[in-house]
Amino acid sequence: MRNWFRNKKQKYKYISNPKFKSNKHNTAEEFLLNVDEENNRDAISDTAEIIKINWKENYKMKKKRKKDSNIHLQNNPEYVIELKNVFKSYPISRNEVTPILKGVDLKIKRGEFVILFGKSGSGKSTLLNIMSGLDRANHGDVIVENTNLPYLSNEELTKFRRRHVAFIFQQYHLLNNITGYENVETGLILQKHKDRKNFNIKKAFEEFDLLDVIDKYPSQMSGGQQQRISIIRALAKNADIIFADEPTSALDKKTGVAVMELLRKINQEKGTTIVMVSHDPDVIQYANRKIFLNKGTIINDEKVR
Ligand code: ADP
Ligand code: MG
Repeated sequence: MRNWFRNKKQKYKYISNPKFKSNKHNTAEEFLLNVDEENNRDAISDTAEIIKINWKENYKMKKKRKKDSNIHLQNNPEYVIELKNVFKSYPISRNEVTPILKGVDLKIKRGEFVILFGKSGSGKSTLLNIMSGLDRANHGDVIVENTNLPYLSNEELTKFRRRHVAFIFQQYHLLNNITGYENVETGLILQKHKDRKNFNIKKAFEEFDLLDVIDKYPSQMSGGQQQRISIIRALAKNADIIFADEPTSALDKKTGVAVMELLRKINQEKGTTIVMVSHDPDVIQYANRKIFLNKGTIINDEKVR
């Protein structure tokens, strides 16, 4: 694939084309949305709360929020992420929803390394998706980088993510039909500062001890190698905020530690804000702040360093 294209941009355009179907998840931005739905399509638990709702209301929740005076709210200069009384329900049928987030208030400063804890099903991923613009809150404000996200259309959310955030997922989500090197290149192409496009991919592979897989495809790599590449991709993108959903839970202990050390290094050296979901108490030592979520509300929020 490397030689088919005249330049990287052209190649990326091709990979990003929705008609390009040789991979299950085909575009760097679109696949995040699809993947996420897949992650979330867990069976609804028997104990889940179910609320009847008018189908028109239910339908409306899928769309961007109607304009009102809050649309122009910006961050207090101290914060980069501010959530105010955020509610989120998922539709489970035409006229039923299940409430997941029930009034979340949260403020995160630039440069913080925050870990979200909570039992499985407590709404951690949902909260992360809402903060990162992968999904929209039904109620409340979600102001990130001076943008109130629930008011954005899908296209605007895509642009927002492209410009401001990078993702690291539990299942890596590398593009399978391109090599390690090319996967990192996709991050570089999405890089927002033109003058910083000189990220040295080869050097990063060397630094993370990945040179032997630089030209291999994800299927030829171990989980740890794929996860480290997905982190280099996030680094190459040079985003303001990195969102990570259980980035170490598919890795063995040693690789998990290496990944956490890498994240801490990025946070400390570049001042990148990191919001990470985990259920492993051992990762607390890497963060500045731990937040516990239970049944869709924050029950504890502490500084750790
Ligand atoms: P966590 O990441 O803490 O395990 P999630 O945020 O993934 O929790 O999910 C919280 C609850 O919301 C779970 O009970 C899950 O089944 C439900 N859920 C998540 N996504 C969806 C969805 N798209 N539709 C319906 N229910 C969902
Ligand atoms: Mg989750």
